Amino acid sequence: MALLQLSEPGQSAAPHQHKLAAGIDLGTTNSLVASVRSGEAETLPDSDGRHRLPSVVRYLGDGIVVGHDAKAEAASDPLNTVVSAKRLLGRGINDIKSLGERLPYEFRQDDTAVPRIHTVAGDVSPVEVSAEVLKTLARRAEDTLGGELTGVVITVPAYFDDAQRQATKDAAKLAGLNVLRLLNEPTAAAVAYGLDTGSDGVHAIYDLGGGTFDISILRLNRGVFEVLSTGGDSALGGDDFDQVVAEWIMQQAGIQDDAGHAMLRRLMRDACAAKETLTESDTAEIKLELEDGTHWEGTLSREQFNELVEPLIRKTLGPCRRALRDAGISADEVEDVVMVGGSTRVLRVREMVSDFFETEVLTSIDPDKVVAVGAAIQADVLAGNKPDGEMLLLDVNPLSLGIETMGGLVEKIIPRNTTIPVARAQEFTTFKDGQTAMAVHVLQGEREMVDDCRSLARFELRGIPPMVAGAAHIRVTFSVDADGLLHVEAEEKSSGVKTGVEVKPSYGLTDGEIEGMLRDSIDYAQKDLETRRLAEQKVEAERVIEALISALNADGEKLLNEEERTLIVSELEKLVEISKSDDHIEIKNGIEALEKACEFYVERRMNASVSEAMSGHSVEEFE
Ligand code: ADP
Ligand code: MG
Repeated sequence: MALLQLSEPGQSAAPHQHKLAAGIDLGTTNSLVASVRSGEAETLPDSDGRHRLPSVVRYLGDGIVVGHDAKAEAASDPLNTVVSAKRLLGRGINDIKSLGERLPYEFRQDDTAVPRIHTVAGDVSPVEVSAEVLKTLARRAEDTLGGELTGVVITVPAYFDDAQRQATKDAAKLAGLNVLRLLNEPTAAAVAYGLDTGSDGVHAIYDLGGGTFDISILRLNRGVFEVLSTGGDSALGGDDFDQVVAEWIMQQAGIQDDAGHAMLRRLMRDACAAKETLTESDTAEIKLELEDGTHWEGTLSREQFNELVEPLIRKTLGPCRRALRDAGISADEVEDVVMVGGSTRVLRVREMVSDFFETEVLTSIDPDKVVAVGAAIQADVLAGNKPDGEMLLLDVNPLSLGIETMGGLVEKIIPRNTTIPVARAQEFTTFKDGQTAMAVHVLQGEREMVDDCRSLARFELRGIPPMVAGAAHIRVTFSVDADGLLHVEAEEKSSGVKTGVEVKPSYGLTDGEIEGMLRDSIDYAQKDLETRRLAEQKVEAERVIEALISALNADGEKLLNEEERTLIVSELEKLVEISKSDDHIEIKNGIEALEKACEFYVERRMNASVSEAMSGHSVEEFE
């Protein structure tokens, strides 16, 4: 079993060592990488001090360019420069065509249904393009942090489906990265504000970027964020703000609709600059060179700007209302609103969103960086850099984990869908007198019988002090850490002997296999119940027989006469016969019959042990 790594008792907790981990916001237009350094999560800049990396990859005959330099050539070399690869991740060729004809690439499609973009460097898939962006950010993190990353957390939109998530993971794998977890973007933003450590409640995440708007309603429930609903508008954002400001300037300056391309480009740039200025100042001065060489100067006040953009902001509130309705909650149940995306810097956006939800909007963290910061915090925890108490609970184990007990049965210790990290313990005892070793067989699955579950590990606890059956207290502890790594430990409490193993429970199981195991457990539930009952009764019969034999050996001669002994032995032999049956009720009745037949013997034994305990003591001591 290559999966198993035996760890010596007491040595499982490695000496504390900070592991390098990063959070990556893999965005449609821009991506960022962040990491926790000296307790603070912060985004990491490139050597020119720029935090944001344009998610643009340019393929050349002799190499690949990623980021700012690629973006600069997007207009001049559109066929070889891939922008917005995120929109294509995990999509089939037909989905992509339905996105609109705005994509300039030449698609190649073989029989795999994975679209490939034809470039001078050959055909590339959206996964490969995303891998280049991830690689660039990971290299930046490793250069800045001075070591290899043990793992990364990558954020994805909450509405991403399985194929899109799998494609994101594939991109990371291709980039040589160990994905600790994919995290929903709104969840990452909530984590950045520490909402996961607060009390249970509902939070809204309002993400208004350049060209898109997303709203997510999350509920924090016992430390786990649940996405209640998502909504938005994939064609609404800061670009539209620029547009309305540009139209205002055109009106003021008397610029006609048929102005040249260069003029319109200048106009949009100045409009955007004025918009951003108004976040800090009450007015923005605009100086514009007109096509006839003359200059126009004007002032845009914040009030005027607000009036221009209010209809656009109001347009975001429709999806907000819908998301609340889908989540089945009212606006006043929302505790706070996390603001994400550059356009939430617009003060009027903050005011209107705050009014709509009738609550505070959270803006203290840079809205461009908040998703990456949350991902970095999560990555730090998952890499194991936090003491247990501060673990974030954001995941569940997909299948139950348990151990084999007598009769080939599985005792579940951590049921499926338990949030991880988690630790659960259960006590077991020895079955035979003088038993000094116990086999621990770790299993995964929903079925009742060992043969129907997946075997994860076996180990043996040795050195149990010899005791009568049932006297030893063996505590078996299952703990699953945030990575899904299972550690099982067995300890005999009176002597303190213990041993354990570490297993990766979900390793090698595809989602399909997990689903299959769950389906089987439902299909076989009734049959399993019968099998379980029978196995339990067989075990119980065997236990009673063992106990009676050991009692007869100990004091049968002393406490019973010849006739009584013959009676008990014949009853015992009856149960031995009955216990071979396949009918659990028959066995149960047989056990009860034997117990009844032995009642007088049990009573005599109890009296004998009391008088034995009292011999040598005065009666008063026991009163
Ligand atoms: P995306 O996620 O779509 O790439 P971003 O979250 O980076 O978008 O947001 C980009 C938008 O934010 C642009 O429209 C930009 O003009 C706008 N923006 C950035 N800073 C400000 C500001 N100070 N005031 C208003 N808008 C801003
Ligand atoms: Mg964004």
